[in-house]
Formats: sequence, structure tokens, C-alpha cells
Amino acid sequence: MKRLALKFGGTSVGTVEKIKNVANIVKKRHSEGNEIIVVVSAMSGTTDELIKKSNSISKNFDNSELDVLLSSGEQVSSSLLSGAIIDLGLKARSWLGWQIPIITNDNHTSSQITKIKTDEILNFISHGGIAVVAGFQGISSSNRITTLGRGGSDLSAVAIAKFFGADSCEIYTDVEGVLTTDPSINKKAKTIDKISYEEMLEMASLGAKVMQPNAVQAAMTDDIPVNVRSTFSENSGTKIIPESEIDYKKVVTGVAYSKNNAKVSIVGVIDKPGVAADIFEPIGKNNINIDMVIQNTSFDGKKANITFTIKREDLEKTLNLIEKNKQKINYNKVVHDDKLAKVSIIGAGMIANPGVTHKMFRSLADEKINILAISTSEIKISVLIREELTQKAVKILHETFGLN
Ligand code: ASP
Ligand code: MG
Repeated sequence: MKRLALKFGGTSVGTVEKIKNVANIVKKRHSEGNEIIVVVSAMSGTTDELIKKSNSISKNFDNSELDVLLSSGEQVSSSLLSGAIIDLGLKARSWLGWQIPIITNDNHTSSQITKIKTDEILNFISHGGIAVVAGFQGISSSNRITTLGRGGSDLSAVAIAKFFGADSCEIYTDVEGVLTTDPSINKKAKTIDKISYEEMLEMASLGAKVMQPNAVQAAMTDDIPVNVRSTFSENSGTKIIPESEIDYKKVVTGVAYSKNNAKVSIVGVIDKPGVAADIFEPIGKNNINIDMVIQNTSFDGKKANITFTIKREDLEKTLNLIEKNKQKINYNKVVHDDKLAKVSIIGAGMIANPGVTHKMFRSLADEKINILAISTSEIKISVLIREELTQKAVKILHETFGLN
């Protein structure tokens, strides 16, 4: 007998018909002799709607109240799914985060899970019951409802798999698994059979939306085997496993992208120790994530240019912070551009294969795509380009590295 954590995303439970379909999948997996803990997202669109409502009350809607509001989406879907499973003649019950409880810290809207109590659910599933857990939510030690950040029911599923010692964690979604790239901009995208945690973390962080990066990180930390698969087909999907268990035939595993990037260049800053720290400190303190950073060395040793990228939505705030900081950092001017995209190739096969970098740059050059900034790690290379060239870049890189 196996114990499975099965997570169904928002599109999988998006309508009453789809919820009935999920109930049938759960019934089938249960009839194969497995103990089942289901984790559900809110019905698709629900969380966005609730956020809109809170925004129309106040632009600074209280975060702890926001968590109470947002967690209601998963209350609806967990009860509907439990009801649908019961209707198929099985024993099922829903659990909200606080009822289990799933304990988190009190970092409202992006809390971390610290502990999950298991006795009640273990007792229920060992007597043939199917537990349906509302994803995305928990309760803090001060007895307040918390949520885990957008897409957080993936993290709920990984944490449930961990604390309940599940044999596997299956993420059911609306695509066939983890794809080599986004099929909506490249029809040649293929399902990846096996991917390492490290690669998946890069893919998720660099724009692939199939799994929340925090959830991938949690699975990697605790070695939880994850299977991403489709709710709407029988195919086996993608297995996320340790790198040592993968035999790399391809240098590049996937191509990811993110739009809505902005670039800021501070021109003519004094070239002396402490300047970069002075520039980035106030930005970091305002919770703005800096992505790529480039400093051009000055030829005269006096003035340098510092360029960095951020999300487009953070541009205005960032420019204001730099302006306010003018006394301290002393520069000639600031230039910015907010219609940029980051395109990345990811692959653990790169570690052992030199020459990937120039191959990437050459194929972009052949398409007349200008590279504005570059950043690399052991298993990825990212380039910043004009946003309107995203699709072209993704397609050529997908082809160049043999993923078509
Ligand atoms: N309902 C939440 C969201 O839309 C959590 C999730 O779906 O994973 O972000
Ligand atoms: Mg999701």
C-alpha cells in the first residue's frame, strides 16, 4: 500500500464538472489500494477575484485580513471535492488548514509552514477515508489564518507529503507535465520525462509557471519525489528527482522566459568601495528584488556605470529611491527601459559541456536579437532582450539545443 499526496490545481477544479472528474481520478487512485491525501487549490480565477475586491476596498488592505479572505477560495473547493467524492460512495472529509492544524509563522501572505499535525488525518485514511486538505493556508501561533504566497497550494502539497511520509507527491495540472518551454509561444514544446530539483527550481524561478518555486525548493530540501502530470490525460507526466539519478543526453533541458522586466542604468557613479552597497541598500530594504547586475569598469578609474534589472512593476519606486539617494551616491544621470524580457536556457548537462554560451549567443545573433545583459549560473544562462523578441528567441533556442 502506498500513501499519496495528490494536489489538484485551480484549472483542474475550475468548474463543477471538473470537480466531478477529479473525484473520479481520486476514486481510481484509491481503488488501486493507496492511502490518499488530496490537496486542492481554489477554483481558477477565485483568488484573483478576491484580491480585486480587497483592492477596491483599500490599496493597503490589511495583510492578515487578506489571508482570511483569500483562504476562503480553498474552503469552497475542498468542500465541493469532498462532497463529490462522497457522492461516488466513498468516505471523504475536508480539512481546512487550522483544523489539522498546519502551523505557519505569522508572515502574512507569504508564510512558511513550520509543522503539520498528522494524527487525525492518519487515523482517517488508515480506515479507508480520503482526506481533502485546503491548500495555500495555515494558522499562525497567534491563532490567525495565514496563506503561503501565490501558487502556494503546491507548497502545501509538498509539506503534506513530507509530514505524512507520503511515497510520492503528485501535482495534477492542466498541462502534460513540465514542458521544454511554454507551449503558448512555441508549439514545439515537449514534455520532459525527468528533471532534477535544481533544474526545476531554475525553470520555476525563471518563468515556468507549472510549480511554485518555494514548493520546488521544499521538495529539494527534503528529497520529496514529485510527479507533475495532467488531470485531463493518463500520461505519466514529469518526474522531479535528484540530479544523480538522471542520465543527461541533452545539454539543455528547457527554455524559460519572463516578460515585464525593467533595466536601470546609473551613469557616472564614483568608482570607489561602498558605492554599489549605497545604491542597492535602500532598494533591498524596500523589498524590491534586484535580478541581474552589471558594472562597467571605468577606464580612468574615476567613474563607472551600474546597470541592474528589476520587475517592471517596481520601476517607479526604484527610480524614486535612487533620486532620494542622490546626495549619497552622486551620479550623472539615470536611464531606464521597461520593455524587456529575460530568456534563459536551463540544463544540468551544461556542467560537463563547454561551448553552450557561444552557441546560445550565436543563434540569437543570427536572428538579429541584441543581448542587453547576461547572467549565468552552473546550470543556466539568461539573457536580457527586448520584450517583443521573446517568442523569436525562445523558438530559436529551443531549436538550437535540440528540443524541437
Ligand atoms: N489559490 C491560490 C492562488 O491562486 C493558491 C494556489 O492556487 O496554489 O495563488
Ligand atoms: Mg499553481
